Amino acid sequence: MSKLQPARGTRDIYGEESRNMAAVVDTFKRVATSYGFEELSTPIFEFTEVYKRPLGESSDIVSKEMYTFDSHAGNAKDSEELTLRPEFTAGICRSFISNGMQQNLPCRFMSSGPAFRRERPQKGRYRQFHQINAELLGQPGAEADVDLIAMAWRILQELGLGEKVILHLNSLGDRESRAAYRDDLVIYFEQHKGSLSEDSLRRLDSNPLRILDSKDEGDAKIVDGAPLMSASMNDASREFFELVKKGLDAIGVPYELDERLVRGMDYYCHTAFEFVTTELGAQGTVLAGGRYDGLIEQLGGPSTPGVGWAGGIERLAMLSEKGAVPTRPVVIMPMGEAATMKAFSVAEDIRAAGHRVTADRSGNLKKRLTRASKANARFAVVIGDNELEGGSAALKDLDNGEQQTIVFAELGAVISGLLGDAA
Ligand code: ATP
Ligand code: MG
Repeated sequence: MSKLQPARGTRDIYGEESRNMAAVVDTFKRVATSYGFEELSTPIFEFTEVYKRPLGESSDIVSKEMYTFDSHAGNAKDSEELTLRPEFTAGICRSFISNGMQQNLPCRFMSSGPAFRRERPQKGRYRQFHQINAELLGQPGAEADVDLIAMAWRILQELGLGEKVILHLNSLGDRESRAAYRDDLVIYFEQHKGSLSEDSLRRLDSNPLRILDSKDEGDAKIVDGAPLMSASMNDASREFFELVKKGLDAIGVPYELDERLVRGMDYYCHTAFEFVTTELGAQGTVLAGGRYDGLIEQLGGPSTPGVGWAGGIERLAMLSEKGAVPTRPVVIMPMGEAATMKAFSVAEDIRAAGHRVTADRSGNLKKRLTRASKANARFAVVIGDNELEGGSAALKDLDNGEQQTIVFAELGAVISGLLGDAA
């Protein structure tokens, strides 16, 4: 074991960052619920095939980023190859098939939790990171795409990010349009073969669309001159995209058309979108998604259209910093053994009245009051022998030093009243 540090690309999350991340998840769940979504939790690892097939062997994720291991537990015969979740969509579609959910279409699923990719760690890019994820299955029309983007936009606005992010929007067209575009791209990139990066050369055979997504600077120059998707789009694809744009206009969601936007995975068609910020450097994409009509069929399920997105919780939390500051605690201070026993139930009663209560049971009163102030406590409740006999405690307001004697049963209400006065 080395140095008791977390493994490369993983982190401990606590304090303000933890609160900011929780605020992202809370906002996501509240808003998604208002759009009719229900929670679906899938396992954190799946059979490798679940990811390999839909994402494609040539995708960055499958070719180099997955944490894959053998389930082998003593009996090699039973071993199966498993992979830690690198993204949510494939597992959710697997779950949809496993549970026969096609009887209940449309399905609206919200999920959140960790995902794992073997990447070069940097700010906003980790090997264990966290996503909020939404999928809408069973609606073939462009209206579903609009609903999902609108939901993402609302979440971003509620996180205070309306001014900080821009929606980039593109269409990859249907299967026919994509195939035509693919041919155009191959012809073009073949002419620039000599200057393409090694990764992109590989993609030229397997998935040339992905070259458009290359992060290599040399590739970027060549990509600038590549033919545009819009030139290969058939009428049906065009109409679909028009409807998406009209819907977004109707809600007032601002967007920029970005013909170079492709998604990193094989299974996308029609709408592709990313919410991007300029504030996080190269890690600027905070939430991204699109339509994936062929995915469920590819996994062996009934042909079912789907559209979804995933947002990076770390990146969203860094931008929004909306974490709730914990309310200031009440510190209960029993002086002596009898008082300690009584303090247990007094503390429960104050908590039941809705307050945050901690206990400090050691040291003299002065020390305890100093510690309470340091912990940003608002009130101290001191229970000594005198107070015990009278069935009351000394309630001290640490902001103004005022002290009053309050019977145990009324402490919660009195504290509520004092906090109400202050508000
Ligand atoms: P990028 O282009 O930044 O690598 P991606 O296209 O690989 O992103 P997606 O697979 O679309 O990302 O995942 C959705 C979101 O999850 C991203 O927009 C981002 O906010 C977040 N995300 C992806 N990978 C990481 C990571 N390694 N660390 C932290 N957040 C991540
Ligand atoms: Mg990536």
